[in-house]
Amino acid sequence: MTEVLSNLDYMALEEAHSSGVYAKRALTIVRGEGAYVWDAEGNRYIDCVGGQGAANIGHAHPKVVEAIRAQAGVLLSCPELFYNDQRALLLQKLTALAQMPRAYLCNSGAEAVEAALKFARFATGRTHIVATMRGFHGRTMGALSATWEPKYREPFAPLVPNYTHIPYNDLAAAETAITDQTAAVLVEVVQGEGGVRPAEGDYLRGVQALCRERGALFITDEVQTGFGRTGRLFAHQHYGLSPDLMPVAKSIAGGMPFGACLISERVGKLQPAIHGTTFGGNPLGCAAALAALDVMVEEDLAGRAAVLGGFLLERLGDLPQRFRAQVREVRGLGLLFGIELRGKVAPVLKALQSKGVLALPAGLNVLRLLPPLVIGQADLEQVASAIEAVLAEMGAAE
Ligand SMILES: *Cc1c(COP(=O)(O)O)cnc(C)c1O
Repeated sequence: MTEVLSNLDYMALEEAHSSGVYAKRALTIVRGEGAYVWDAEGNRYIDCVGGQGAANIGHAHPKVVEAIRAQAGVLLSCPELFYNDQRALLLQKLTALAQMPRAYLCNSGAEAVEAALKFARFATGRTHIVATMRGFHGRTMGALSATWEPKYREPFAPLVPNYTHIPYNDLAAAETAITDQTAAVLVEVVQGEGGVRPAEGDYLRGVQALCRERGALFITDEVQTGFGRTGRLFAHQHYGLSPDLMPVAKSIAGGMPFGACLISERVGKLQPAIHGTTFGGNPLGCAAALAALDVMVEEDLAGRAAVLGGFLLERLGDLPQRFRAQVREVRGLGLLFGIELRGKVAPVLKALQSKGVLALPAGLNVLRLLPPLVIGQADLEQVASAIEAVLAEMGAAE
């Protein structure tokens, strides 16, 4: 048995020994189930952090737990210099669901984006990458170069050369930026970290058309929007797009670290040795992902996200009228939900936590909800009431 310590003891240990690159809340989470998590003192929270997008199918889903248990006793490592049963079956299922014929398997979102960028440069023989302002694509050097937020980028300059950032939802800017030297355009269908900002369908279709016309590849980063989050299995399906490359990760394996870059017919089969990673396509992750994808389909989690997202929008859509001094806008797609505040979001998150609701920021003033898609409507109602109560209390205090 491991020794059981208190919330404060665990915090002290992490503060003493972890890298320091994360700002943490004063809460030690030790267990999760469905849309709930529990702290070290046994308090339960409704979880609208959802593993930062990794928990779409809910915490500790029994089918994924069972798949991991079973596979752990059979085979954990098997690099891609061999074939593997779990990997073969996962590749078949994932490519069928994404309707893209091939996939490169890896271990995180940043790795999936990094792969997409390298594949785009390799396949086109060009180097120029177009990304968007407020876009987020991960923290490795190639993905970071596509990420917009200056505080993530500036300490690490010089970054990878030949990236251009254009305003989001501005087709004229894309028209100017995409040239016959452009390898790829990288966009999120809804900007997640950048403030929960959905793209317009006409904009995305326009960018895709410009890419086709000028020989650039069209990459939709679905690391956050994928696997049912927005009300479709992949968010680009809302707009009838057909990306050339599609990085995914977060929820793909029910919470296990896993990622993939889907590859279209237009990119085709890549040649050996140009890319790779030791743990990519490992049997444990593949078994977890196979089970998680089954759950998403069987439980129609995308359909559920669409319905529950509609409920939230109806329930909270008039916050800007009811709390005019505090709320600027409410927006989202499915259960990727954002409330833009006029002030800072940090005190609101803290007050919600004291009411048993965990939520995320997106930038300094957007409250972001990323609940597991299995969340019950009664729990979402409780989240909505908690948000109203916090806004009312804070408004009264001003
Ligand atoms: C989270 C995220 C990433 C990075 O994924 P990691 O697994 O944290 O490396 C990339 N793109 C988008 C859109 C994301 O939301």
